[in-house]
Amino acid sequence: MYIILLGAPGAGKGTQAVMLAEKLNLIQVASGDLFRQALQQETELGKKAKSYMDKGQLVPDEITIQMVLERLSAPDCENGALLDGFPRNIQQAEALDKTLAQQAKAIERVVYVMVSEGELLKRLSGRWICRNCQAPYHAVDSPPRIAGKCDRCGGELYQRPDDNVETVKKRLEVYFMETSPLIDYYSRAGKLLEINGEGGAAEVNRRIVAALS
Ligand code: AMP
Repeated sequence: MYIILLGAPGAGKGTQAVMLAEKLNLIQVASGDLFRQALQQETELGKKAKSYMDKGQLVPDEITIQMVLERLSAPDCENGALLDGFPRNIQQAEALDKTLAQQAKAIERVVYVMVSEGELLKRLSGRWICRNCQAPYHAVDSPPRIAGKCDRCGGELYQRPDDNVETVKKRLEVYFMETSPLIDYYSRAGKLLEINGEGGAAEVNRRIVAALS
């Protein structure tokens, strides 16, 4: 089962991906996490991606598509994956469809998490993430039990450098220009599930699970 989580930055894709991956026993493949890992390990890929990420722009397709398709070809993704942050434009979606079709596979469902723009800005500005397991927190809405420490693994929490006001604005602009056409793309393919992403994470998760079943 291949499922895509689609939505603007701050819509809660990461939170929902972690919860859903556990529930559906699927591997979460988050393109942003793959880039951040590469950045941390100072690989060539990480160096190439950094300047785009710092500016809130999309990393070029030839780099991104190769990275994600390579990850999807690993044995743990053989029977499915939960894609978070990929595809982010039509070219990426077409490349993904083509590669899956070559293996007689296809995207089954696309969960589109809908959140208002005001809520997106609020969520991104208070966001803290675990350096170790990527679990997300919010300074006001979902703080960790111990300040600065992840509830799940005890890892150190940090704020993403691209969660600053200027870069967030750019990322939202890029989302509306390049990623939102995917809503129509997957709707025409009859794969889109529209989910109200406002409210608590557990409530949103219940809506997604109900829609998927
Ligand atoms: P995210 O963690 O999904 O918010 O991604 C962080 C940053 O990584 C984005 O702002 C982009 O610079 C880059 N990125 C992540 N996924 C993609 C993608 N599918 N295509 C291009 N760039 C991406």
